[in-house]
Amino acid sequence: MANLIQDKEVQCTRCRNKHKFSERIEKRKKNFVFVSMVCPRCGGESYFDLSEKEVQDDDDVFDPDYIGPDED
Ligand SMILES: [Zn+2]
Repeated sequence: MANLIQDKEVQCTRCRNKHKFSERIEKRKKNFVFVSMVCPRCGGESYFDLSEKEVQDDDDVFDPDYIGPDED
């Protein structure tokens, strides 16, 4: 039942798409060791966890993990 936590609601920090965590797409890194769950719309890896904190609508949050579009 550990999958329950994956159904939390999240919002992509790049395209602001709101979706369930379970809707995110598995994407393998180049080294095939790590798998990240990315935004189903833009493929962004970073997201806000809407279930943990209040949504801040007009806050332009700087994302230190954002390294640009993933081209592969
Ligand atoms: Zn996105």
